[in-house]
Amino acid sequence: MPNLVIIGSGIVGLCIAREAKKKDTFDNVTIIDKEIYPGFHSTSRNSGVIHAGFYYSPDSTKAKFCSEGNSLMREYVLNNSLSYKASGKVVVSKNDKEDKIIEILGKRAVKNNCKVRVLESKLIKNYEPKAKTNNLFLWSPNTWSASPKEVLNCLVNEICEYGVKICLGRKVVGTKNKSVILDNGDEIKFDFLVNASGGYALPISKLFGIKTSYKILPFKGLYLKSKNKNDVFKTHIYPVPDINQPFLGVHTTLTSDNYLKLGPTAIPAFSPENYKIFDNLDIKLTPDILFLQSSLFINNNFRFRDLALREFRYLFKENIVKSAQEITNFNLKDIDFDWYSPGIRAQLYDLKKQNLENDLIIEFKDSTIHILNSISPAWTCAFKTAQFILNYLNEI
Ligand SMILES: Cc1cc2nc3c(=O)[nH]c(=O)nc-3n(C[C@H](O)[C@H](O)[C@H](O)COP(=O)(O)OP(=O)(O)OC[C@H]3O[C@@H](n4cnc5c(N)ncnc54)[C@H](O)[C@@H]3O)c2cc1C
Repeated sequence: MPNLVIIGSGIVGLCIAREAKKKDTFDNVTIIDKEIYPGFHSTSRNSGVIHAGFYYSPDSTKAKFCSEGNSLMREYVLNNSLSYKASGKVVVSKNDKEDKIIEILGKRAVKNNCKVRVLESKLIKNYEPKAKTNNLFLWSPNTWSASPKEVLNCLVNEICEYGVKICLGRKVVGTKNKSVILDNGDEIKFDFLVNASGGYALPISKLFGIKTSYKILPFKGLYLKSKNKNDVFKTHIYPVPDINQPFLGVHTTLTSDNYLKLGPTAIPAFSPENYKIFDNLDIKLTPDILFLQSSLFINNNFRFRDLALREFRYLFKENIVKSAQEITNFNLKDIDFDWYSPGIRAQLYDLKKQNLENDLIIEFKDSTIHILNSISPAWTCAFKTAQFILNYLNEI
């Protein structure tokens, strides 16, 4: 039987390794990660929301994967007795224009096979008495939350029992014939390779000859987390998003252990791992990112300048609170918040279409597969993405 090498020990890499072992298609499955802990980046720095899948355009891969991914993630959490919050979520509107978007989201939900209801504002008190809305709101019962770290640890233990080798603290820096070259000069041979390296998937795909019109455009998601457990909110509250952009706006979420989080923001960042102002700048990527950001700022493509000016305000705690205050009638100033570990969405920008790429992109070349633009809801979709990749690998 052939061997499979996976670059990246985030949720996507781990789920693919698990699926490969469950299907018993490969003799050896090896995961390589540059960090000394698995899932150190987006996978352990996200909101932990198991999305239902109604936001996405019905022809997108996200729409195709999310509803089933939601069921598979909820099943995994329940079967492994991990913590979760089956809170559901409401999406609330501020005006008549946003009511229309709620109706569009309701229609998308039907096409994307998600269970939601579009309801009149007088009913909101039955779902979330602390939410405020215009005429309509959307109720999504299957939007749960789980603990990304518990899911990660459970997956790591499971795949280690299956015999998957996880090689940590080793960075993939090149490729030669059917081997990857590591930063210590070692070479690891592969018959099949999956590049699930999250924010670095684009530059790594280039090592394998993948050509695209994409550039990396990272955004930093800052959060505030309540110091004390929540005894106010029943559900997550989200504003109506700009449906042409991948960001959902500052929202309130409940963690699986019942703390309240506000955020995340979408502040332009300077590398895929640039958590603090000058953290992890990347000598190869940062100059390119700065150049792209400057040009988008000047030309205001996809309203980047408006977004950047709005988002930089969120460097101050009170502006995040103020923004979340627009969707709730509870005075958030009565809750004490601390900053919580940020995450980075290493979004792709399409130079040809001059727009942000909103979808998950999967590129295939010879015996290699590259998972690009692994942005939200890729955590929710991970078990479904793994099934898709394994079906493909079984067919070639
Ligand atoms: C702020 C924020 C909030 C989010 N909220 C949600 C949410 O609520 N629900 C949801 O479904 N999704 C959410 N997401 C999205 C989700 O977290 C990510 O889509 C998902 O974690 C991506 O997983 P991944 O395995 O593809 O990448 P990652 O978790 O980033 O893993 C990639 C791995 O590759 C490794 N790597 C990179 N380069 C190399 C190299 N050269 N050699 C070896 N290893 C390498 C990295 O060290 C890393 O461990 C959110 C994301 C962010 C940033």
